[in-house]
Amino acid sequence: MKTFVYIDHFKGEVQPASWEALGVAKSFGSASAVIFGSGLDALTKTAFEFGADEVLLADDSALTDYRAEAFASTLSALASSRTPDLILFPTTARTRELAAMTAIDLNTGVLVDVTALSLEGDKFIATRPIYEGKLLEKTVCSGKPVIATLRARAFPRPAQDASKSGGATKVETKINSLTTVEGYTVAEAVVNLGDAGVIVSGGRGVSNNPSLTPPAGLDEKQAELWRAQQGFKLVGELASVLGGAVGASRAAVDGGYIPYSHQVGQTGKVVTPDLYIACGISGAIQHLVGMRNAKLVVAINKDADAPIFKQARYGVVGDLFAIVPALTEAFKKKLGKQA
Ligand SMILES: Cc1cc2nc3c(=O)[nH]c(=O)nc-3n(C[C@H](O)[C@H](O)[C@H](O)COP(=O)(O)OP(=O)(O)OC[C@H]3O[C@@H](n4cnc5c(N)ncnc54)[C@H](O)[C@@H]3O)c2cc1C
Repeated sequence: MKTFVYIDHFKGEVQPASWEALGVAKSFGSASAVIFGSGLDALTKTAFEFGADEVLLADDSALTDYRAEAFASTLSALASSRTPDLILFPTTARTRELAAMTAIDLNTGVLVDVTALSLEGDKFIATRPIYEGKLLEKTVCSGKPVIATLRARAFPRPAQDASKSGGATKVETKINSLTTVEGYTVAEAVVNLGDAGVIVSGGRGVSNNPSLTPPAGLDEKQAELWRAQQGFKLVGELASVLGGAVGASRAAVDGGYIPYSHQVGQTGKVVTPDLYIACGISGAIQHLVGMRNAKLVVAINKDADAPIFKQARYGVVGDLFAIVPALTEAFKKKLGKQA
C-alpha cells in the first residue's frame, strides 16, 4: 500500500499528530510525507527521522501561508500523478478543509476524525466516535484514494531516529487561488490542547472561594472575575508542574474567566490526554464529550454527587482551593521541579 501523509504545520511548527499519521502509514506499507511551504529543510529532515520513506516537497513562497484552494490543487495534482491508495492527515481545522477540497478534486470521500484504521483485504475500515462519543462507527470509503483525517493522540507516535535523513523530491505546485493572505492578527494566546499529554481544567468552581477578599471597589462581576483569576492561577501552577496545558469548561469561558481556546467539550476541543484533572467542574454531558477518552481522569469537586466522579478513576471531594495547591506542592517534591 502506498500512503501520502500530509504534514500539517504553521511556519514550520508541526502539528505532532502528523507524525502519528506517518506511523499509521508505515504500518500499511510505504509512507510519503507531503510537505508544502518554503524553506523547510529542517522539517524535511524531521519527516525522515519519523520514518518517511520519501518526502514530496512543494517548495514555493506562494505556499508559505495556508490557502485552501492552492493547497488542495497542489495536493490533488500530486495524488493524480502518483496514485496513492490512501492519503492521511492529522485532524486540524486546516486539514478538515483541505481534505474535503482535495476529496472533491479527486472525486472520492473523506473519513473524518478517525480513531482506529485497519486494512481488511484491500478495504480500509475506519472507526470514529459519533453521537458525542457514545457510539463508535465503522466506515469505509468506496472512492480512491481513501482520504482520512486522524484524531490527535489516538495513534502511537513513532520513535524519532536522529540518524535518519534524505533528500526531498521536489514536486510541482498549482497555485490556483483567488485569495492571498495579507497578514495575521493574533486574537488570543493559542493553546494546543489536542496534543497535550496532561490537561488540568477549571470550571465555574474556580471562582468560588468566599474566603478570598477581592480588592476594594470591585462590583460583583469584577469580584467574581478576580476570584476566578486566583483559581485559574492555581490550576495553571498545577498544569505547569506536570508539564501540561490548562483547559476549561464552557461555564468558565462564558463567565469570561479564560479564553475560548481553552474550552473542552462539545462546542470546544475534544481531547485525549494521558491525564485529565477536572477542578470545580460538575461533569455535564457536553463537557464529558470532550474529555471522556482521556486515559486517566481525576476530579476535584466539593459535591460528592457531581456527575464528573462517574467519569473519574480518582476523585477528591473537597475545596479545590485547598486541594490543588497541595497537589502542586506534592508533585513539585515528587518530580523535583519548580512550577
Ligand atoms: C449546546 C451546548 C453546548 C455546550 N458545550 C459545552 C462545552 O463544549 N464544554 C462545556 O464544558 N460545557 C458545555 N456546555 C455547558 C454544559 O451544559 C455545562 O453548563 C457546563 O459544562 C458547566 O460548567 P461547570 O461544570 O464549570 O459549571 P457548573 O455546572 O456550575 O459546576 C461547577 C462545579 O464546581 C463545583 N465547585 C464549586 N466550588 C468549588 C470549590 N471551591 N472546590 C471544588 N469544587 C467546587 C460545584 O460543586 C460544581 O459541581 C454546553 C451546553 C450546551 C447547551
